[in-house]
Amino acid sequence: MRAELDQPEGHIVSETETIMSDTGRSSMLRARGLRKEYGKEAGLVRAVDAVDLDVAPGETVAVMGPSGCGKSTLLHLLGGLDRPSAGELHLAGQRIDQMGEKALARLRRDAIGFVFQAFHLMDELTAVENVELPALLAGNSTRAARRRAAGLLERVGLADRARFLPSALSGGQRQRVAIARALANEPLVVLADEPTGNLDSEATLEVLRLFESLHEAGQTLVIVTHDSRIAATADRLISMRDGALVDETRLAGGTTGHLSSLAGLDA
Ligand code: ADP
Ligand code: MG
Repeated sequence: MRAELDQPEGHIVSETETIMSDTGRSSMLRARGLRKEYGKEAGLVRAVDAVDLDVAPGETVAVMGPSGCGKSTLLHLLGGLDRPSAGELHLAGQRIDQMGEKALARLRRDAIGFVFQAFHLMDELTAVENVELPALLAGNSTRAARRRAAGLLERVGLADRARFLPSALSGGQRQRVAIARALANEPLVVLADEPTGNLDSEATLEVLRLFESLHEAGQTLVIVTHDSRIAATADRLISMRDGALVDETRLAGGTTGHLSSLAGLDA
C-alpha cells in the first residue's frame, strides 16, 4: 500500500509506460462512469452523473456550466477530496477511487495541486511560509522547502512579496501565492475551481497569464471557470449540465469569440 506512493519527487508514477492505459491511450486522469450522489429517494441529487473523462499529460481542460451543475463536485472527485458513489478514477495509470484514507491523503499532498476561488491561504503565515508548507508536510528539509518556495514565488512574479502576510496582498497576488503553493510538490495535475471568481479584471489577467505559462511548461491542468478568457487558453472546453458532460470543444490556440455562447454562459 505504502510503497507505490513513496517514490522520489512525490510522483506516484513516472514511467510513460505505466501511464499508457490498457486502451493504449495515455491519460493523466481517467474517469469512467464517475458518479456522486447526495441524499436519497425524493431528495436524491446526482451531482456527478456517469462522467467519462480523459485528460492527457500536459493538457489544459476548461470545464464550464451553470451554477449547481456539479463542477466543484467533479473537481473534488478528480482530486481525491471526495469519494465517488460509483465509477472508476485513475491518476497516471493508478486506480485511486478505492485507495485507503492515508494513501489518498498522501496522494493529494504529493500529486495534486488545488487552487480554490477563495484562495484558502493561512492568514497568519507569510507568502513564502504558505508556499513552503506542502513541501514541509511532505517531509522535505526546512532549507529545501524554503528554497523551492522562493523559486515558486519568483515564478509567479512575487519574489518581492515573500515576507508579506496575505492580508497585505491584493486578491490577484493572493491567488498567485495559492497557485505557487499548489505547485510546491510538483503535482501531476493542478485542479482549479473558479480561480478568478473573486478577482477583478486586471487580477484575472495576471492569473490567466500564469496559467498560460504553466500550460506552456507542460503542467496538466483542469480549470473550472466562468471566464471565457480563461477557457480560451485551454486545449479543450467541456460543458457540464446536471452532473453530466454534455459537450466538448477542442480549441485551436487563439479561439475566443464564441466560447461563452458555446458553453451557454452569455448571461
Ligand atoms: P457547481 O460547482 O457546478 O456550482 P456543485 O458541484 O457545487 O456545483 O453542486 C452540484 C450539486 O450537488 C448541487 O445541486 C448541489 O446542491 C449538490 N451538492 C453539492 N455538495 C453537496 C453536499 N455536500 N450535500 C448535498 N448536496 C450537495
Ligand atoms: Mg462550484
